[in-house]
Amino acid sequence: MNNEKVLHRKGIKMPNISNYEIIKNAFYKKDILKDIIICPVCNSKDIHILKGDGHKIIGDDLIAFICNDCKKIYEFIDVICK
Ligand SMILES: [Zn+2]
Repeated sequence: MNNEKVLHRKGIKMPNISNYEIIKNAFYKKDILKDIIICPVCNSKDIHILKGDGHKIIGDDLIAFICNDCKKIYEFIDVICK
């Protein structure tokens, strides 16, 4: 995943994540996407959820979350691409 591409595609205001580390296959969605979303690593609530390109993804199009305290991008394990 190219960070700049993600930012461009999303077209939303994001923190500067260009130097964030990307952790592949980090967590299952069900373990993250709860009523209160916190980082399971550092318990921060400073979290952004990343959406992908819906055309290429089966199911919901959430692909990763960003923790602004860890300064890492944690990709979901259970993202199924077409
Ligand atoms: Zn964190």
